[in-house]
Amino acid sequence: MTDEREIIVEMLCDILGDEKLHYENHGQISFNCPVCDDGRNKGNLEINYLQHVYKCWSCGDSEDTHGPLGKLIDLYGNKKHKKLYKLFQPEDTKNREKPKQTLRLPEGFILFKDSNPRYPVRQQAYNYLKSRGIGDDLIEKYGIGFCDKGSHIGRIVVPSYDLNGQLNYYIARSWDPESKSKYKNPKAEKDKIIFNESLVEWKNDVYLVEGVFDGFFLPNSIPMLGKHLSELLFNTLYEKCEGNIIIALDGDAWENAVKLYHELNGGKLYGKIKIVKLPKDKDVCDLGGKIDDYYIQIKD
Ligand SMILES: [Zn+2]
Repeated sequence: MTDEREIIVEMLCDILGDEKLHYENHGQISFNCPVCDDGRNKGNLEINYLQHVYKCWSCGDSEDTHGPLGKLIDLYGNKKHKKLYKLFQPEDTKNREKPKQTLRLPEGFILFKDSNPRYPVRQQAYNYLKSRGIGDDLIEKYGIGFCDKGSHIGRIVVPSYDLNGQLNYYIARSWDPESKSKYKNPKAEKDKIIFNESLVEWKNDVYLVEGVFDGFFLPNSIPMLGKHLSELLFNTLYEKCEGNIIIALDGDAWENAVKLYHELNGGKLYGKIKIVKLPKDKDVCDLGGKIDDYYIQIKD
C-alpha cells in the first residue's frame, strides 16, 4: 500500500473500529456499520477508498447510509479526521452541491412603469391585473412586470427577492385564459426560498397563503407556492415570527390547512396559530382578501 492509502485506512479504522475484510487491490474495505450493526459484528459497511464511496449493504437505502466518503467522515469523524481527509478527497466530490446559477428575470421582462401606457400588450397585461383587483399600488410594491417577447411572452411576472435584494424566484402567469400552462415558473427550487421574505414584518401577524396572487390581498402574507410548508419556511416562522400565524389556504385544501395547523401549533408557536376555512371553490384572491368571516376554532 502506498502511504496515502495507508493513512486513509488507518483513519477509517480510527473512526469505525477494526476492519473486517480488506481487498487492497480494489481499495475495498468493510466495517461494522455505525448505523445498524448494533453489536452484531456483521461488517456490512463497505468502503472503497480508491473510488471514495461507501455503502451499507443492510441499511444503505433505508437509512441513506451511502454516498461519497466525505459524507461518512463528516458524520462520524472528528475535526482531525475531516481535516486529514481534505488532503486526499478528490476535487469532484468536495463541493457536491452544484454552484448556484444566478437566476434572471425572463427575457423581455419589463416593469409597467417603464412601458408606454398606450402600448397594447401593456394594456392587456394591465387590464388582466385590474380584473383581478390588482392595481398600481400592488404593482409598484411587488415590482410586477410583464413579458412582451421571448419564452415568457404574454405573462405577468412577479419577482421574489431575498434579504440581500437578489432575485431568487419569480412566478410567470399567463393572462390569456386559453393558455395551456397557466404558470411558467423557473426551475429554481421553491422549497429553498421564502417568496419576497424582505417584505415580511416578523413583529406582526403573518398570513400563510398558497399563491402569490392570494398574498396580494392580505397584509404581511407569505405565499407557500403550493399547499405544503417547506422545512425552510417552518424553521423561519418558528425562529422569527412574533405575531400570530393565520393559515388561509384555498377552499379546496381544508385538509392540508388542518395538517398545517397541527404542524405549526407547538413549542413557542403554540396558541398563536389561527385558521380560516374558505368556501370550497374560493381562494383569498377570489375573495379580495375578505376572509374575516371564515375563521374556525380548532380543538387540539
Ligand atoms: Zn447499516
